[in-house]
Amino acid sequence: MSTLKVRGLCASAGGTPILNGVDVTVSSGEVHVIMGPNGSGKSTLSHVIMGRPGYEVTEGQVLLDGVDMLALAPWERAKAGLFLALQYPTEVPGVRLEDVLVESFRAAGRDDLQVSALLERESRRIGIEADFLERSLNVDLSGGEKKRNETLQLAVLEPRIAILDELDSGLDVDALHECSQRIEAMTNENHLGVLAITHYNRLLHELRADRIHVLIKGRIVESGGPELATELESDGYARFLPAAEAPSLGAADPFADPFAV
Ligand code: ADP
Ligand code: MG
Repeated sequence: MSTLKVRGLCASAGGTPILNGVDVTVSSGEVHVIMGPNGSGKSTLSHVIMGRPGYEVTEGQVLLDGVDMLALAPWERAKAGLFLALQYPTEVPGVRLEDVLVESFRAAGRDDLQVSALLERESRRIGIEADFLERSLNVDLSGGEKKRNETLQLAVLEPRIAILDELDSGLDVDALHECSQRIEAMTNENHLGVLAITHYNRLLHELRADRIHVLIKGRIVESGGPELATELESDGYARFLPAAEAPSLGAADPFADPFAV
């Protein structure tokens, strides 16, 4: 049983505050979902938890089973059991996925001879063709293929807690089905804890959410059950935004004059 605890997390980038006190706790087997408008700080939250350079943590804590993640390098956080599926996976020319996974297994003291069999089994399960595995990591893959690739790494590495930043963006219906079903199975079989960032309820048809959190301007303003995701998908974020920023009904009307005052 593992627990990721984010407590009062405040962070800035280039001197601009982006996260303004985020609290969220994810335990093994649970699926927590962060939804929020563009620019509300969702990717920043995922980057700061994982330790991507370029952010300054000004307050708060990130603890995995009581261990201070903020004091560790990103690779040490990964070794401790955190995994981040990036919104925009990085291309790494000259390095194959298998090379990366072998190094990860070695760093974690796991038997790296298992890697190729695990890769083969998981790529079949997630619907990835064998020749993709021979290519450089994420190079010449479509957006959706990169997201499948992130899911494949997640399945082979078996972390304790996975953060998924818009895993569903770019996935077609079949890939979305395979990836979300695989991750849901991990929450049951491996007790994986998930912090999923998404705009769409469709990811949650197979990946069953326990809690939905609404992130606005770097702060969680409301949390609720899966019904909150349904409400957000149909009504948007207007009720969480100051009146001056909420899209007016006129703007939502496709026949409204966009230049009308
Ligand atoms: P989301 O993922 O919710 O769309 P992001 O976390 O990517 O939002 O960004 C939140 C805000 O922080 C945006 O206004 C973005 O422009 C700003 N931001 C993100 N990274 C940086 C950075 N490195 N330097 C300055 N501003 C940044
Ligand atoms: Mg983002």
